[in-house]
Formats: sequence, structure tokens, C-alpha cells
Amino acid sequence: MSANDVLSEIPVVEQHVPGAKTLHPMRRYAQIATLIVLILIPATGLFRIDPEAGGFILLDRQIWFSDMLIVMGFWIFIASLLIMMYSLVGSVFCGWMCPQNTVSEWANQLTERLLGRQANMMDMSGSRMEVAVRRKSMLNYVILGLALLGASMFYALIPMFYFYPPQAIWSFVSFQYDERLAGSLHWIYFVCVAVMLMDITVIRHLLCKYMCIYRVWQHSFKTRDTLHVSYDVSRSDHCSHCHYCVDACFLDIDPRKSETFDSCVNCGECVVACDDLHSKSKKLEGPGLLRLSFGDEWKGKYRGALGSFFVQARTATLATLIGAAMFGTGLYAYEPASFTVERSKAEENNSRMLDYRINIAYKLFRPDIMHISVQGLEPHTYTLEKSAVGFDGAGRQDVMLHLDGSLAAGLYRFKVSVTSDGGWSRDFQLVHYAKRDARQDGKQGS
Ligand code: SF4
Ligand code: SF4
Repeated sequence: MSANDVLSEIPVVEQHVPGAKTLHPMRRYAQIATLIVLILIPATGLFRIDPEAGGFILLDRQIWFSDMLIVMGFWIFIASLLIMMYSLVGSVFCGWMCPQNTVSEWANQLTERLLGRQANMMDMSGSRMEVAVRRKSMLNYVILGLALLGASMFYALIPMFYFYPPQAIWSFVSFQYDERLAGSLHWIYFVCVAVMLMDITVIRHLLCKYMCIYRVWQHSFKTRDTLHVSYDVSRSDHCSHCHYCVDACFLDIDPRKSETFDSCVNCGECVVACDDLHSKSKKLEGPGLLRLSFGDEWKGKYRGALGSFFVQARTATLATLIGAAMFGTGLYAYEPASFTVERSKAEENNSRMLDYRINIAYKLFRPDIMHISVQGLEPHTYTLEKSAVGFDGAGRQDVMLHLDGSLAAGLYRFKVSVTSDGGWSRDFQLVHYAKRDARQDGKQGS
């Protein structure tokens, strides 16, 4: 047996930073899943804005601002959950979920692939290596331009899902008439595409670094125990002439000098890069020098970040519970419809005012029938325009109630009741004052 055969039988144990191999694919899955979820949330009726009703749609039901418990509970719940997330894992949302970062990374990669790429590999001279000649052909520019335009058109569609149901969006993209669509929607969409195109062509990560208020807000909740990139200083000799991790960072951060309040989004690309380098190098021993960790793991001062997090997040946890309780109570007490009864505007100048308008608002997105009845008045003293109205989905309908002019003068207490086939029922109490009219005076005089 040759020496080579003997050596080949010796198992090579590759050392890796725990989880480093899966960080990159996991992040890509998370980014794609976030885009899908961002579309599914409005498309399935889970959450949508309803400008016509002046509220939003939640779980396929209209929520008005008067549904205070649901509105307040929902926002308190979401806001406190986000605060807890920032306290524990920092700006992970930016690196793993934010659509702006996803499209910027994609645009960076596509640009490098089509117009030439710089090496992301160790350069012993300390400067970046060029491994591919730049291919700045006209065809590549055209392909890049079309790809960026396609992405802009797709991204500009996503906000529309939050204002229109999927059927209306389909009508929009297939150029069909749909009465639900605003007349100027094509112009609004055009402007959104133009803004998006400028974003992914020119701005990209500049927005993350210098313009994103959301990222600055997240920083308010960061501490030294929050998830961050930590660096093994004890093996810093591995870094001489190496720039690999800095090259891997799309935000141009040097992860060896990370600070509590820097722009790092905990994407882990630098961790993967360094780990990759160490696993392939024959000179560098051990796993990579970088890892995502809580506290200060390398110095042996692991702070029990989870415990620290729960102490810090006590208020946020309480707020989450309160928000969830308000939201649950609001949903339990949710009224699927409401109605008002008021004097008809057409009658306002008429001193006798005999017409009432019953305005029924239905808030669910499934068909139902509302039955209307009047109690407390003799049947021959009023006329109800309809005794039932049908709804295909959320909307409003008017039903007129006319009181007979021959009512004897006096106060009449009566109520209007509306009952739905779905089981909802409410009453509306009214007091009608019938004035003595000239005919009655005439009758009495004769
Ligand atoms: S941390 Fe790793 S990738 Fe970065 S310079 Fe040092 S050895 Fe290179
Ligand atoms: S420093 Fe590392 S984890 Fe932070 S953004 Fe850059 S590549 Fe991502």
C-alpha cells in the first residue's frame, strides 16, 4: 500500500462554526418565504386596507376604527412582539426578511454576474482579486435592464394587494375593466414602478445604511447581549492579508470590529465566508473566527442572553399579553353589521318629516340577508320599502321607512329591528312626534 493510499484512509475532520453551512441557504429561504407571505397576507384576506370603509380588513372582515379593542390590541401585540424581536436578535429582520434588502442583494449579484464580478476569495496581497474580466457587452446591459425592470414591476404590484382583492389585481394586470379599481391606478402603478426601478438600480443598500428610519428605530432596543457577530481575537493572526469577510459583507462592514450600534443586519454572510475559508485552508486551523452569538461568547463571558432578554423584555411581554387579550376580546365581541335610522334628508325642509332612512352596514365578506321589521306602530300607519335586503359581501344599503301622514298628533315610541340569517340582530329605538296637521284641524272644525 502506497503512502498516498494510507493518507487517503485517514479521515479528515472538517471543523465548522456551528450552523455556518446552513446560514446562507436558510437566509435565502427566509427571504423568499417573506415575499410569499407578504403577498399571501392580503391575498387570503388576513389583512388588507379598506380605504372606502375607512378601516382595514382582518380575517376577511371589515374592521372600523370604532372596533377599538381589535385595532388597539392588534397594534400593541405587533409592536411589542417586534420590540422583543429587536431586543433578542437585533436587526435580523433586515438581513433575513426585509424585501428591500432581498431585492438589493439580488440586484448586486445580477450586476456582478452580467457586468463582471470581483473575487470573493482570499488575497494574500490584501487587495481584492479580479477573477473575471468585466463583460460589459451591450447585450448584458440590456438583459440587466430588463431584469431590473421586471423586478420593479413585480415589487410595485405587492402594495396593491393591500388595497384590492386578488381578482381585481388580475383584472389590472390583464387590462380588463373592473369597477373596483381606481381610474388613475395605472398612473399610480407607473410611478411606483419608476420609484422601484430607481431604488434597485441606484439606491439599493444605501437606503439601508443612510435612509431607513426603521433600522434606526430597531437600534433603540439593542444591547450588548443582543445577537451580533463576535470575533475570536485570540486567533487574529489568521487575518493577516485576509479580507474575505469584509468582501462578503454587502454593507461594507468589517465584522472583526463590529459595534453594538453599527449597520450590521446579522445576515451571517461574513460568518459563512470565514468558516468556508477555514474549512478549505490547509494552513488555518479550527473553525472560522466569526460567529453569530449572544453576549460575549469568545471571552467566556456568555451572559445568559435569554435570561437577560426576559428581564429587559418584561414590559414588552406584558404589553404583548395585554394586546393579545384586547385583540381576542375585540374579535369575540365583534359586530358583523350595524345600522342607523335617521330622518331622510329629502324631508328636512318638510316640517312634518315622515320619512326615515335605515342605513345597514354589513362588514363580512360572505353573503347574508338582513330582515327589517318595525315594532310599536300599527301596520297601517307606516310603509317599509323592503322587508329584507341581501348582501354579497361587505357594503351598505338604504331602506326607506315612511310614516303615514294621517297619524294622530302625539309622541310615538317605536323600534326598528334588523336580523340577519347569520344570527346577528339589533334594535334601534325611535321617538316620532306627529304634529297636528291642517287636515286634522279641518276635520275637527267640521
Ligand atoms: S475573520 Fe476570517 S475571513 Fe475575516 S479576515 Fe479574519 S480570517 Fe479572514
Ligand atoms: S457584518 Fe456580517 S452579519 Fe453583519 S451585515 Fe456584514 S456580512 Fe452580514
